[in-house]
Amino acid sequence: MSEMVNCPICGTEFDLKKLDDCPYCDWTYVGYENDLEPNEKEYFNTMTVKEAKENFKKGKNIWGESLPKKL
Ligand SMILES: [Zn+2]
Repeated sequence: MSEMVNCPICGTEFDLKKLDDCPYCDWTYVGYENDLEPNEKEYFNTMTVKEAKENFKKGKNIWGESLPKKL
């Protein structure tokens, strides 16, 4: 069984049964990203959804490292 989800930050689809973190941008999927306030930080990630999306737009993962080229 798998549980495919789309990363709320970069849209990458991955299997939540195998991974907790997005294999592309390293966001930890919590499932309630849409319910968070724009500047609200939850326990599992070091930044807000907004900040992570801004990083993604600049080509960086949630650690500020350059993202690998999409396969
Ligand atoms: Zn992602």
